[in-house]
Amino acid sequence: MGQKTLFFAGLLALTAATNAQAQSAQRSAERDLFAKIVEIPTVDGQPAEFKKLTALLSAEFRKAGITNVIVKDHDNTQTLIARWPAAKPSGKKPILLMAHMDVVAAKASDWKYPPFQFREEGGYYLGRGSNDNKAALTGIVLALQYLRAEKFEPTRDIIVLFTGDEETTGNGARRAANQWRDLIDAEYALNGDAGGGTVFPDGRVEGFGIQIAEKTYADFRMTAVNRGGHSSAPRPDNAIYALANALTAVERHRFPAMINDATRASFEMLAKGDSGQYGELLRRFLADPQDRETADLLEAMDPGSTRTRCVATMLSGGHAPNALPQKAEANVNCRIFPSVKIEDVRQQLQSLAGPDVTVSAIEGSQTPETAPSPMRDDILQAYRAAVGTRFPNAPVLPFQSAGATDGAFLRAAGIPVYGFGGLWGIVGQREGAHGLDERVWAEGFHGQIPIWMEMLRRVAGT
Ligand SMILES: [Zn+2]
Repeated sequence: MGQKTLFFAGLLALTAATNAQAQSAQRSAERDLFAKIVEIPTVDGQPAEFKKLTALLSAEFRKAGITNVIVKDHDNTQTLIARWPAAKPSGKKPILLMAHMDVVAAKASDWKYPPFQFREEGGYYLGRGSNDNKAALTGIVLALQYLRAEKFEPTRDIIVLFTGDEETTGNGARRAANQWRDLIDAEYALNGDAGGGTVFPDGRVEGFGIQIAEKTYADFRMTAVNRGGHSSAPRPDNAIYALANALTAVERHRFPAMINDATRASFEMLAKGDSGQYGELLRRFLADPQDRETADLLEAMDPGSTRTRCVATMLSGGHAPNALPQKAEANVNCRIFPSVKIEDVRQQLQSLAGPDVTVSAIEGSQTPETAPSPMRDDILQAYRAAVGTRFPNAPVLPFQSAGATDGAFLRAAGIPVYGFGGLWGIVGQREGAHGLDERVWAEGFHGQIPIWMEMLRRVAGT
């Protein structure tokens, strides 16, 4: 008996050692691919860098046996579309996986380390784009490679859409949703740019999010023009004062409080877990979503989720220190609550600004006006189960983004989009997306891959 136990113990120890070795080899291969991807500076206006990245990604897909890879050259950037055809077709429409290849520009002199030099520090992987959005992009590639290796047989096509201008024009997603529709048409999309979760420093999970709605982005120009004159003879009409008054009116204005399925669902879940002042405000707002005063208090704590918000972001005016201004101009940036029309917001701003200031929508600045994607129980359950492989019973909360992603272009074209991700960060830790010293929690980076795999087994395997 004793001997037998020893024998088994020895065998187990051997297997454990081999497993640990295999795991660390796998982890360093994952890290190497991620490093290569982060070190290609795919910034707006650098088409050669996009070519490098799409060549690398195409090779990774081909290596895994995914040979249907199309790279579109367009608008000074590239978009990659790959398709893994169903092995056992069920007749179900494909599932689309989304991420973006482009990153926000980074001013090297402001960073602690060169932004396009991948490095590891304090449990984090650092580099521009590591968080937004190359971690999820790499996670999708690796999950598909592993699923191929384990001979997973999808019952529907799995399509990948990697765009190259999410941070700027959104042309890749716009073209995909319309012009290249036949290449990406799907029952719904999982967008790796808008999901993921947070974990407390002690390892307890806070929750994961499924994004089902986005606010609409729109810029407006406020312009005051005046005949000007000599500044030694001031008059009541003055372009700078007119504009300043208009901006003050915008500052004081509160758009009506609103609620929808996405914000209600996240408020309900947040309210359940918060016995403090924030939870109390949420419960009050849920009981009466027209309650502007409660909405104001909530906006002060967590801006953007109870209404349309507009804010002045740029200003210019006058032409000489000793002349009455002939022109003054401001940019007002609005994040519009889903279902509110851009034109209605413009009219509201115009009525606030008064007759001496003209408010015009800036052409090309807007994302499409979209309704929330309908919350589907099957997707939510699959997400819960996938996250549950790592964090049992982790809450998955539907939410609405105050910002905008490529998802809006697909939603506008009738393809529901769900922000999904297996990646997690640590509660209270800065990750620097769009900002300085961008980083991603290494454990979350590696941990997302099995979560993507389990999600795909569930939504594309049965
Ligand atoms: Zn992004």
